[in-house]
Amino acid sequence: MRRVAVAAVTAVSLALGVGVGVQTWTSADRRAAQAEREAALGRVDDALAVVHADVAARVVEGATSDAVGSSALLTDARSALEAALARGQQTLEASAERVGDDDAPRAALTAHLEAGRAAAPTASPLAARRLAAELAAAEQAVHVAVAAEQARVAEREAARVAAEAARAVRATSRPGTPPAPGGGADRCATTYGGPAFYTSVPTEGGDGSNGRLPPSALTAVSWTRDSRGTPFYLRADAAAALERLNRAFRAALGHDLALDLTYRDLDTQVAMRAALGSVAAVPGTSSHGTGLALDVPELPCEYGWDSPARAWLVANGPAYGWVSPTWARQGGSNPEYWHYEYRG
Ligand SMILES: [Zn+2]
Repeated sequence: MRRVAVAAVTAVSLALGVGVGVQTWTSADRRAAQAEREAALGRVDDALAVVHADVAARVVEGATSDAVGSSALLTDARSALEAALARGQQTLEASAERVGDDDAPRAALTAHLEAGRAAAPTASPLAARRLAAELAAAEQAVHVAVAAEQARVAEREAARVAAEAARAVRATSRPGTPPAPGGGADRCATTYGGPAFYTSVPTEGGDGSNGRLPPSALTAVSWTRDSRGTPFYLRADAAAALERLNRAFRAALGHDLALDLTYRDLDTQVAMRAALGSVAAVPGTSSHGTGLALDVPELPCEYGWDSPARAWLVANGPAYGWVSPTWARQGGSNPEYWHYEYRG
């Protein structure tokens, strides 16, 4: 742009020089030449004025568009930092007392949050991007610590449950009588061999994605809680349908439907995947993360493959929108007699 303007000035100057050079210097001509020269100078001044105005306009325009560009860059970077600060704070709060003895990842996240907040008002785009990336890494470390602690707790709980189950089997088996083939406890054989995991509470500040459902998206069922006193949360419509199903179940079988797990948050799913591998859904894809799945207890065998309770649920659940998915049935890709899903 600026090169074009300079070339225009140069062209005008050359035209003037050539014009002056061909004048004949008589006295009449001298006056005419003088007039011509002045007129030419006037034209040059006019041309220069136009070019200067043009250059000035282009400079202003360029500066403005540069300013707009860099201010958009800065706004983007700062809002990325603000978002990272908000997410980091949420993770810090949600992870309180959930990382076991090693609080270092949370301390590091706290330090990054403080540094980020202090720098946010004046950070350059580059600095804001760097702080946001550091915050995300610190936040991820806290998620890993939470998952590791959950896995440790679950391992301890699994050992306790296994010991209890072994005691129960010893107490109920008659010595010398082998279990009937295909019956009794065998019918509760499960593909699941890992530690126990518990149902989750809603995710404060959750964004509504799988495993991050906020309290407003979930409703607790009315008649039961888990062994630790945690209510069983489901998406509101699924919970309402299950209330109706439970009334019919109770009328038919004489007791409430037992639950083992409903909503499962992302941290728990991450811990499950870490503990169990491909038997557990990829974090972010579990139907428990959407509040649309429930597990009944695997043990004792009350809800096993051939149990009256399962027969009732498979036959009558669909009238309430609750089904045993094909994949979870006998012969399905991942048989789970305890798992049901709400399909509306
Ligand atoms: Zn399940």
